[in-house]
Amino acid sequence: MLVPYDLAGKAVSDAPPAPLFPAAPVLIGSEIYRHSIYGRSHPLSIPRVSSTVDLITALGWLNPQQYITSPLATPDELARFHCPEYIDAIMAAEQDGEVAPAVREKFNIGRNGNPVFPEIFRRPATSAGGSILAAKMLAESAGGTIHSPAGGTHHGRRDQASGFCYFNDPVLAILTLLDHGVAPVVYVDLDAHHGDGVEAAFHDFDDVLTISVHEDGRWPGSGLFGDRAGGNARNLPVPREFNDCELDYIVHNALVPLVQTRQPAALVLQTGVDALNDDPQSKLGLSNRAIWRAVRTLMPLAPRRLVVGGGGYNPWAVARAWAGIWGVLNNFDPGVAHDGEAMTTPLPAAAEDVLRALQWNHSRGRNPPEHWFKYLADSPHLGPIRDPVKAVVEDVLR
Ligand SMILES: [Zn+2]
Repeated sequence: MLVPYDLAGKAVSDAPPAPLFPAAPVLIGSEIYRHSIYGRSHPLSIPRVSSTVDLITALGWLNPQQYITSPLATPDELARFHCPEYIDAIMAAEQDGEVAPAVREKFNIGRNGNPVFPEIFRRPATSAGGSILAAKMLAESAGGTIHSPAGGTHHGRRDQASGFCYFNDPVLAILTLLDHGVAPVVYVDLDAHHGDGVEAAFHDFDDVLTISVHEDGRWPGSGLFGDRAGGNARNLPVPREFNDCELDYIVHNALVPLVQTRQPAALVLQTGVDALNDDPQSKLGLSNRAIWRAVRTLMPLAPRRLVVGGGGYNPWAVARAWAGIWGVLNNFDPGVAHDGEAMTTPLPAAAEDVLRALQWNHSRGRNPPEHWFKYLADSPHLGPIRDPVKAVVEDVLR
């Protein structure tokens, strides 16, 4: 099998190959994310989508014609997956600003990291609306790439909130693709947490394969070694301090062959960036370069490509990683500036200003290191490919 990285631990080239994409990619965002927070002490009390779009703009990487403001998903659209009673409960929670104990219990809102906050309906309905719109646009075309960093709420259940996720936008996007006759669909999830909500939704769908790479033993505790989830899911639980070379190994030896086997009409890629070394919510150790390489490698495997976000709880790491993904999709090398200058020289002043304006109410945010402001790319986090990583790859291909 082709192993196009250096086992001795040398970084593979970050330089962009020939252009991958025939048409210009589309970026979906919304101003709702700029001021909406889940609550002051919640991990999602930080800006993520607004800072990403601001950084992309400051880098000169966004032609305004490529940008679409996300519509709000309607209750009918949400009901393609979610239980109407649950949708009504979320709408009522936004109206009332609180939920009764029975509602809290039944729908898991107002507890377990799923707070009642002022935009509890509009914000997740906007993320869902973006992913549904993206799926419709992709279905109506022969191919293309859409990036919706607000999407990726992969834990949401049909009738319950879970893991900061109220509506499950990847599920709604995949259902929209299927409803338009786009099949098969492959879903690849790079978030540090198992994509349990998406896996569960498509357990019995032969047209959908879900693949998740996540930290072994971390919440929600599913997606275990050897778990094929009924044959339509593949799970790759990886050990702590998971490094760039190990992600490269998994991408080339497991993800690429698994995706190729299905010859998908569409690929949905969840790029939660909580597996980054700088993220506080996992013990994984990736640099953003490894995630960018994964995106670059996976994109050509399907004609229609939806790239959504997901986790990511360090505001500087999230904005830099997701801006870099947009760079990859547009064939900019995120390791270099738009004018071709190496990012070993600092970011343009306007981009640095975006990063310097961010704040983080976390111990790691008190004295942020200078490279969080000055460079887009992290230093590579190289390392050996350990036995547990080789074992999950062998297992998943069996
Ligand atoms: Zn996560």
